Amino acid sequence: MRTSLALGAALLSALAAACATGGGPGPSTERAPRRRSGGPRCLDFAGGDPGEKGWAKVDGLWVREADADAFRKGLVRCGDDLVPLDDADRIGKTPEDGYVLRTDHVLVRTDVAFRRAADLARTTEAHVVALLDSLGGPLDLRSPADPLPVVVAAHRRDFDALLARKVAEPSTWGAFYAAAEGTVYACDEPLGAGGLPVVADLRHETTHAVLDLGRPARQRDRMFDRPHFWAWEGIAMWAESLRDPPGHEAGAERLARFRRRAAWGDVVPLEEVFALPQRAFLGRHYDETAAFTRWLLAPEGGGRRDGFLRLLSRVMDGDAEAGDFERFVGWTPDEAERRWKASMGG
Ligand SMILES: [Zn+2]
Repeated sequence: MRTSLALGAALLSALAAACATGGGPGPSTERAPRRRSGGPRCLDFAGGDPGEKGWAKVDGLWVREADADAFRKGLVRCGDDLVPLDDADRIGKTPEDGYVLRTDHVLVRTDVAFRRAADLARTTEAHVVALLDSLGGPLDLRSPADPLPVVVAAHRRDFDALLARKVAEPSTWGAFYAAAEGTVYACDEPLGAGGLPVVADLRHETTHAVLDLGRPARQRDRMFDRPHFWAWEGIAMWAESLRDPPGHEAGAERLARFRRRAAWGDVVPLEEVFALPQRAFLGRHYDETAAFTRWLLAPEGGGRRDGFLRLLSRVMDGDAEAGDFERFVGWTPDEAERRWKASMGG
């Protein structure tokens, strides 16, 4: 556990060693955050109250109480020193060994410039709380006992190296959630044409993390090969725009892509999407699932939020069967498709 809010990797190892002693506001991030089986849906703080451990909250971030005044004046701790933010930004870092930012429920490690990193940390924190508020009851979720680790790479090349190290199959994911370590990885440099903003990626992967770590694991691994895997991705894409005002949705590009595809008739029958396992779930299926889920859950759309969440629960337990859409949502796939297409004007 780093005891400093900020740690430059280029600092001498003696300084790094000094940072490794003493208590921080949460436990080590070497292991996945622990699940909780009871208690409130959302803890006030993951890992215990940082205030009781000598930390103070400034602008949503926990800093050592002794550093709080300096931090308010724009100085951040790097090893033994308090350094102006612009100077701290110039210290060489890697995504995993750079700034460490702690909010109530999230611990972000990043080499992104500090002010930007602070915004991303606060955005991710707000998303965790919004998710538990919105889905905690229906999905029986509890925030993990420990802070959720998030790594944000400033540059695509560093993210790609992380992806290659953490994921067995080569992939072009813009961001990912590594379930074995309960950690979200994202990148602040866009993935090129059609890529989503990092805020959408962070919300998407944090949704996977909170839904995974918020419940008993049961037979979760089975869901990747069973029917209705789409629901696991559908909820994460729905949450990319959670609580965004109309016209400013972080996931808007995905829906725009779907509309472009739909204009060409490039829409897969829902029954086919419902049967896809993860390995067959491609970009076009993501965009279609995003658009369908958004419609299905909206009160002014399909209005089937409760049924969808019951289906999703079953998917996450690893028990989903082909007929479960009709069973929980109340429509056959054909009927859902007919209604959805009618809402799009045919
Ligand atoms: Zn996903």
